[in-house]
Amino acid sequence: MTAVPRLSIVVPFFNEALNVDVFFDRLLPVLDSLQLDWEAVCIDDGSRDDTMTRLIDRHRLDGRIKVLGLSRNFGKERALSAGLAHATGDVVIPIDADLQHPPEVIPEMLAKWREGYDVVYAVRQQRTGQGVIGRLQAKAFYWLFDKLSEVPLPREVGDFRLLDRKVVDVINAMPERTRFMKGIFAWVGFRQTGIPYTQEERQFGHSSWGLMKLIAFAFEGLVAFSDYPLRVWALIGSVISGFAFFYIVVRLVRTMVYGIDVPGYESIIVTILFLGGVQLITLGILGHYLGRVFNEVKGRPLFIVREKYGIDGAPAVSTDPDRVSARLP
Ligand code: UDP
Ligand code: MG
Repeated sequence: MTAVPRLSIVVPFFNEALNVDVFFDRLLPVLDSLQLDWEAVCIDDGSRDDTMTRLIDRHRLDGRIKVLGLSRNFGKERALSAGLAHATGDVVIPIDADLQHPPEVIPEMLAKWREGYDVVYAVRQQRTGQGVIGRLQAKAFYWLFDKLSEVPLPREVGDFRLLDRKVVDVINAMPERTRFMKGIFAWVGFRQTGIPYTQEERQFGHSSWGLMKLIAFAFEGLVAFSDYPLRVWALIGSVISGFAFFYIVVRLVRTMVYGIDVPGYESIIVTILFLGGVQLITLGILGHYLGRVFNEVKGRPLFIVREKYGIDGAPAVSTDPDRVSARLP
């Protein structure tokens, strides 16, 4: 690998009009101090404010700032996938547009890359702007994910990280439609290391993650990286059957010793309700995986590009002819 790599910064923007200028005013000095070839691939993820026009203005000022406008809001994970597919550098660094990821960490990441690491992720030192409950939720999620998934997720690590070209190529070649990036980044392996950073407050606007969206996201992640929720019902079923068998013996003996007595309505209703509930949960989980298979089989493009500025060539997404690629005329 070259000691002076070409660097691609990948930035997803969704309704970040106020952040565009502050973001570049802080990013550009850092990039210029590095004295290497860089590009910033900005993805406008279907913003409804004038993020796109501001990005285009920035592109006109500096051609190294490249802009990709998606046809609608696809969500951060897919916006990132779009950025990774269009980034051309030897090293690629996804970063948030709201300045929660300080660009000043980039030189440290590059230093680690020069030491031979393929992935350098930034580890959040403290969570700002999040209450006790939020923290507990995050803890619970990581605990569950570690228990259920085949790959451990490094704690307090988001999408802010350096990726070597070979890692980006692997991720681009992954056909799955469910882009749980945290999981994918961990799953690919390679030589990974972390460096600490302090997460800052959002500059303008507010986070687009509500509580429900976060819970849904965590659930998606679990389901995408583990089939344990599918298999656990066999275990639960056996335990319940064990109890049921024991109970049958108890009832039989009771009936033989004391004769038949009518009471027992509660135990029947409780058992029926409980088992009905368990069966519905099982069906729900099955349905969720089936829905997932349905989405994968449809093989729709991960994202649709509406317009490009400064970006030429087709994206490096899956070229399997049977799958629709994200390529548009
Ligand atoms: N983002 C995006 N599409 C979305 C939501 C968010 O591209 O549908 C971008 C957003 O503009 C920002 C980054 O993803 O650059 C992180 O979003 P946010 O700050 O809302 O998330 P948080 O920091 O709370 O995880
Ligand atoms: Mg943010």
